[in-house]
Amino acid sequence: MPPLTAASAPQSARRVEMQGFRHGNVTTIKEVDTSRTDDQIMPTFDLRTVMLMASVMPGLMAVVMFAIGRSFPRNIHGVAQWAQGSLVFSAAAFLMALRGALPDWLSVIGGNICMVGSIGLWLIGSQRYLGRAAFVRLVSAMVVVDALVLGWMTYIDFNPYGRSMCTNVILALLFALLAYELLRFGRKDSGARVVGFMFAIETLIALTRIVTSLEPGSAREGLYAHDLVQLIYLSSGAFMSLTITVGFMLTAVNRLRIHLEQLSLIDPLTGLLNRRALLDTHTLARGTPRRRGTHLSLLLIDLDHFKNVNDKYGHLMGDAILIDFAQKAALSLPQEAHFARWGGEEFAVFFPCESIDEPLNLARELQARIAYRGDSTLPSYTCSIGIAFIDISEATIERLLKQADGALYRAKRNGRNRAELGSEPVAVET
Ligand code: GH3
Ligand code: MG
Ligand code: MG
Repeated sequence: MPPLTAASAPQSARRVEMQGFRHGNVTTIKEVDTSRTDDQIMPTFDLRTVMLMASVMPGLMAVVMFAIGRSFPRNIHGVAQWAQGSLVFSAAAFLMALRGALPDWLSVIGGNICMVGSIGLWLIGSQRYLGRAAFVRLVSAMVVVDALVLGWMTYIDFNPYGRSMCTNVILALLFALLAYELLRFGRKDSGARVVGFMFAIETLIALTRIVTSLEPGSAREGLYAHDLVQLIYLSSGAFMSLTITVGFMLTAVNRLRIHLEQLSLIDPLTGLLNRRALLDTHTLARGTPRRRGTHLSLLLIDLDHFKNVNDKYGHLMGDAILIDFAQKAALSLPQEAHFARWGGEEFAVFFPCESIDEPLNLARELQARIAYRGDSTLPSYTCSIGIAFIDISEATIERLLKQADGALYRAKRNGRNRAELGSEPVAVET
């Protein structure tokens, strides 16, 4: 096989290049003499090799994507369709690369249908990934229409130009839809944005190819301009198929990373932040300009005699009470508050405020809310609360914790089911 970019190839060399692109069939291949003047300007691309590469590489990546996708959590959708799309794209490129060696029904009709199907699967995968309704019917309709038109124009009314035009228009539409969906609905997702941008480029190339092939008679004479468009179309298709498959994979892996990161910050029982996440929010709250509040307040909340509750009603009931507390407390919190399960039967609320009345009132409200049984089927329970209230410039997490912890200890010692305020300022050794 000659090299892909052999601009310096000897003039006497014969090369395989695309012919009949006026009719749009991307793989009508024929040996031509490179001694023609306009052809000398063109680099010698072996387009059959390009197609074979386009066949093998996305196929291999698709296998990797299938393998990775199997272990993905269920809330990440679309990866399977992306992998299927890449696999079908491989099949399409393979069939097209063997144009001439295979019967037309397989190479022309099969190849083009696979091509439309593969891009359609990418569209469905992208829409599922973005949580959008997938255009399954539209894609199926496009495949059926393409198959019918190709069949008709191959066996009944032979028209390679119309055949190719039909497939190209459908592909351009699918590319445009992919670009639109990914750029519009995936704009907060860096991976989706990059892939969407690639599809936008593919759309432009596909449209250019359609428009240039409309020029009367030009392609038939093998004009340089048409050679170039065809060359760009095929080479970019081969290159893009790989980069898009890799792009899809990186997009999915990135979403997995974000998902795992979120999981590592959430308490699975209550759905609240965990201790680590609350510590992060404290760093953030001190590091960024505040909308309100001259002070930071931390409430450490510990359910009373919880061991007895477990012993008396069982661990499952204990869990239900923890969830009940998380839900009720969430209703009382100010908008800026961060609420976490600190560990075991302990919770923490952290928020910016102006006066000491704010955390005191919040503590009272929390206790009143859990004391009210309503039609609850859970056994009654109480909690003790330690409150820290420190000027924001001095409110390190160590100071807040030390103050709130001391106050909580006092609340327990003074009989439980009460709130105590930590003393201020607190001397902390650093
Ligand atoms: P105090 O009023 O002094 O806080 O007494 P306490 O019994 O609440 O405190 P202690 O630290 O002795 O016991 C805490 C209990 O909380 C023991 C543990 O089994 C229970 N616990 C911790 N995490 C969970 C959980 O996720 N589910 C359930 N059901 N119980 C838990
Ligand atoms: Mg405790
Ligand atoms: Mg307790």
